[in-house]
Amino acid sequence: MALRYIWFDQDDTLYDYSSAMHRAMQPVLALIEREYPHVAARYTPKSLSAKRRRICDALDAEGMDFARARDLAFEMILRDAGVHDEALPEVLTETYYAQLRREIAPFARTKRCLRELGARFTLGVLSNGRSLLPHLGLEESFEHRLYTAEIGLRKPDPEFFKHAMERVGAAPEECLMVGDNPEHDVIGALEVGWHAVWLRCEHRPWPEGAPRHPHAIDCIGDLPEAVRTIIRAA
Ligand SMILES: [Mg+2]
Repeated sequence: MALRYIWFDQDDTLYDYSSAMHRAMQPVLALIEREYPHVAARYTPKSLSAKRRRICDALDAEGMDFARARDLAFEMILRDAGVHDEALPEVLTETYYAQLRREIAPFARTKRCLRELGARFTLGVLSNGRSLLPHLGLEESFEHRLYTAEIGLRKPDPEFFKHAMERVGAAPEECLMVGDNPEHDVIGALEVGWHAVWLRCEHRPWPEGAPRHPHAIDCIGDLPEAVRTIIRAA
């Protein structure tokens, strides 16, 4: 069967989420500094962002709901420094996301890639987060948008991929997943029989010991060529 559906991860696949996260941490750190300068002194925006991501990833791995993990992360960071503040974590979370929405922008070649592939394939989003697409002007590019926050399933759970297939009535070999996370996006998709393209990202190296994946790209703009290669090989 021919390839018909291309599913995209969101963060660090359609836009540079990691850099936007670091920049969004600047006003957060300023707020912490105002209340607790000794805590702020421990971090740069980048190191605070990295710590928050580690906490969220760990909570995610434990199966915690994304929204709850998001709210808990700053609370844990403050508690780590001996600060028990009931109100500040929520303010930090709100400040962070408001700034993040201002900071994120599609990669330079994202829109062109979506236009090119959208002319031949049905495009969808399969994300463990929630939609940021309206802030990026990308919502119209995707006919199908599946989010953990709405569906209650998360990559790499095979049920999430199966849910996507049922939604569109597709067979596994008609689907391709592209994403930056080796376990969630690539290995998860391959395990249910999908095609997969890995978008290399410095934050998420390929896991040691896992067999190397042949379809890796360094830029989302290289995806159409990778798709052509996969179709030729099928
Ligand atoms: Mg991602």
